[in-house]
Amino acid sequence: MRMDELAEKVAAGNRRALARAVTLVESTRPDHQAQALGLLDQLRALDRQALRIGLSGTPGVGKSTFIEAFGMRLVEAGLRVAVLAVDPSSARSGGSILGDKTRMDRLSREKGAFIRPSPSSAALGGVARRTREAISLCEAAGFDVVLIETVGVGQSETMVAQMCDLFVLLLAPAGGDELQGVKRGIMEMADIILVNKADGDLKATATRTVADYAGALRLLRKRPYDPEDFPKALAVSAVEGDGLGQAWAEMQALAEWRKAHSHWDRTRAAQAAHWFEQEVREGLLARLTRDADVKALMREQAEAVARGQATATAAARDVLDRLR
Ligand code: GDP
Repeated sequence: MRMDELAEKVAAGNRRALARAVTLVESTRPDHQAQALGLLDQLRALDRQALRIGLSGTPGVGKSTFIEAFGMRLVEAGLRVAVLAVDPSSARSGGSILGDKTRMDRLSREKGAFIRPSPSSAALGGVARRTREAISLCEAAGFDVVLIETVGVGQSETMVAQMCDLFVLLLAPAGGDELQGVKRGIMEMADIILVNKADGDLKATATRTVADYAGALRLLRKRPYDPEDFPKALAVSAVEGDGLGQAWAEMQALAEWRKAHSHWDRTRAAQAAHWFEQEVREGLLARLTRDADVKALMREQAEAVARGQATATAAARDVLDRLR
């Protein structure tokens, strides 16, 4: 298929074309990458935006159950929903695949939904680029909401938070002691904490957990650009469907507030600048290690630095001088 034809189909919201386009941005083949660049550039002109929601939580907390139930609600409300998965661990272990369609059986059969599992092999830098570009493609294809699912392993949350408009943390009901288990850095990224499994025997615990996290969030910090009552914690049950409507209402309220206070555009601009710098950095490093001589020099200098025969600064300068 020609690229302008593919672009046209993606722009028309064709899901098979979108899947092909995502495959292109995931490819490591230079010709595919060139095609992907052209495609993204062409689609950029559409200037379409989706609400990008990052969703994080440890395995077993109920991410796929939540996305299935939440996604179905949005689809039933006439919205088009894309689900992308970011799972750097699957690259190493070949293990847990997020965004697995079998985990979101009903949603994956909906016309208004697009689900894409994480690619099985990619470095973290590659994952970031692929995810950003896949988001752009989903936006160009006219999706209203893009959910980016990630597993709680630190680095991937930071990455996802830097490409989202909202960051949602999914937690399980827990006693007071376990509250400490959530890393402060992850709590700080959260706009909304959802305590899942607020049903049956766990309901009372979930209510207490919400209160605990609400308290913890108040202590963390004030975001001068957000409404007074954000970040906030809510109880939901993905299985029962309880609280999902309220969760969506809160997400929309926060997004609307940020748009109205021009925080939305500013954040997206800052994120774009961040990724530009990141690309330059990674490109430079790739260029350095592509050249066999430079690579050998880097190894030599690293050893010299380790042995104390050169300072890190001088050794790095030496390597960088080779780039000219
Ligand atoms: P993930 O690994 O985060 O994607 O978690 P899953 O969605 O696969 O859910 C893990 C387990 O928790 C499954 O057995 C689900 O049925 C269960 N689960 C998920 N959501 C809820 C919920 O709202 N209430 C209850 N009671 N169980 C849930």
